[in-house]
Amino acid sequence: MSSFQVKIVGDFCNKRCTYCRNRDFSQNVATVMSFKKLKKLFMLLKVSPQNKVRVNWHGGEPLLAGKTFFNNIVDLEKECPDKLWLNAVQTNATLVDSEWASFFHDNEFHIGVSVDGSEKTHNVNRIDASGRGTYKKVMRGVNILRNHNVHPSVICTVTKKTTKDAKEMFLGLVNTGFKNIAFNAFYNTASEGDGDVYGLADDEWLVFLVEIFEAWIDLNDPTIRVREIDSALAWVKSKSANFCMYRGTCHQWLVVDYDGEIYPCERLGKEIHLGNLQSLKTFEDVVCGPLFLEWKESVSILPVKCQGCDFCSLCHNGCVSHRQAIKGEEAPLYTYCKSRLGFDNYIRNRLGL
Ligand code: SF4
Ligand code: SF4
Ligand code: SF4
Repeated sequence: MSSFQVKIVGDFCNKRCTYCRNRDFSQNVATVMSFKKLKKLFMLLKVSPQNKVRVNWHGGEPLLAGKTFFNNIVDLEKECPDKLWLNAVQTNATLVDSEWASFFHDNEFHIGVSVDGSEKTHNVNRIDASGRGTYKKVMRGVNILRNHNVHPSVICTVTKKTTKDAKEMFLGLVNTGFKNIAFNAFYNTASEGDGDVYGLADDEWLVFLVEIFEAWIDLNDPTIRVREIDSALAWVKSKSANFCMYRGTCHQWLVVDYDGEIYPCERLGKEIHLGNLQSLKTFEDVVCGPLFLEWKESVSILPVKCQGCDFCSLCHNGCVSHRQAIKGEEAPLYTYCKSRLGFDNYIRNRLGL
């Protein structure tokens, strides 16, 4: 195993986004991974057989772990110079200052920020504890990063409340200098059903994708990369998109929580518990263990629709966290199946392929 997401502060965050998966914001005390656990994590990473180790330092809001914590990360990596350490941080950027930006620049961390489009669309859901929109604070952090030559990619979450503003969201990001853009359709397994005021329906996601595709074509700027468009264009050329939601590669990374508990992808919550750092000798013990193998097997079972689908080898039934049960079937189907097929069809017609 060579890819990890480490939730160094657990779900702890300084923001209160309305759709956050950690909607229980009663947590007032910071949870930060202890130095002892961080050291144990590195002990396990160092003995892993892979030369390249990717770690996405995550949260909640990972910068709440503090600068000393991040300096410890770099020091521990330097103790093992024969490995190639690829560090990434996904942050809401509100805490970024010059010191953070210099650190990320000097230590070559890849930074991803979360911005939901324009100021108007971002502030619909991304608010602070007093209910105020956070756009200005986020963009202040983004600009500090850029002033230090750190150019973050961006993840933009789309909910039922913002899906009608596709073009505004896209141009809001482009016009503020983002070049690497990814859109996430918000789908909350925990609040599935009529009560979910945020989760996108399949047809809403298709309309959104088509609108950003048209806006991207109008822009005619090949330096603007949109993950969803790149993935669909790869598919049109019968190539595999470079993204777990298309590749069926859920099992190629692990999540380590601040308390050392180990799970599969963060989006899948804590139901599938795979162990704890403290009792491990190697990460290979986790991925060769019966719990992991059983889970891996269960997520690769395909529903009937996928078994007969020409695109199955390019889609793999989509994201495991975005699947819904179908009556009478053992395996659930990707919630955005129709969008995936519809977007492919739209692009082929639009490009005359
Ligand atoms: S920044 Fe992320 S972790 Fe924090 S409240 Fe918003 S969605 Fe949740
Ligand atoms: S989710 Fe839909 S598009 Fe993907 S493999 Fe299954 S049937 Fe095909
Ligand atoms: S649950 Fe979805 S996002 Fe997470 S690794 Fe699997 S496919 Fe990727």
